[in-house]
Amino acid sequence: MKKLFVISGSSGVGKGTVIKEFLMRNPNFKLSISCTTRKMRAGEVDGVNYFYITREEFQSGIAKGDFLEWAEFSDNFYGTSKTFVEKSLARGEDILLEIDTQGALKVKELMPDSVLIFIAPPSFEELENRLRGRKTESEEVIQKRLNQAAREREASKKYDYVIVNDTISEAVKRIEAIVLESSK
Ligand code: 5GP
Repeated sequence: MKKLFVISGSSGVGKGTVIKEFLMRNPNFKLSISCTTRKMRAGEVDGVNYFYITREEFQSGIAKGDFLEWAEFSDNFYGTSKTFVEKSLARGEDILLEIDTQGALKVKELMPDSVLIFIAPPSFEELENRLRGRKTESEEVIQKRLNQAAREREASKKYDYVIVNDTISEAVKRIEAIVLESSK
């Protein structure tokens, strides 16, 4: 019975919406809230989307071994709380981590029973359009995100499942099928 599911996907792929929909339909799942040093975007809430902390706090967390995994990209740190994952698993809860590919592969190494799911865009051009359509980032940041997306696509070859996000509801159904399959 698999309990820990890890979802990654390029930024702008609609992953956030898919996960939100999945969690609404599957309230038994708990989403791990990561720590980050990046600035809060409009509409985000501290303690809901992320715990927004300073670089100093993040460094001290690394030194204390607070993170199950962490990664740095786009000049920001992101990390998964070790305590959260361990406590949830001990309580027998189903957990979902939404983290990047470096972190996901690290989790798989530490916890081989975890299930890695990658959400891919229907096409790279489509991804670029979605990123630009969001209008929250500068051109430089968009370019960095696109390079990041190319690297993530490469890493996705090591995932247990890759699903294409054509429509939100189809992607959610695919994840539900994967969860069911992994629970056998
Ligand atoms: P965003 O800044 O758009 O919220 O997230 C950027 C990237 O950070 C996404 O690919 C997201 O999956 C990843 N991310 C979020 N939290 C974590 C984490 O705790 N660890 C790792 N390794 N990546 C994370």
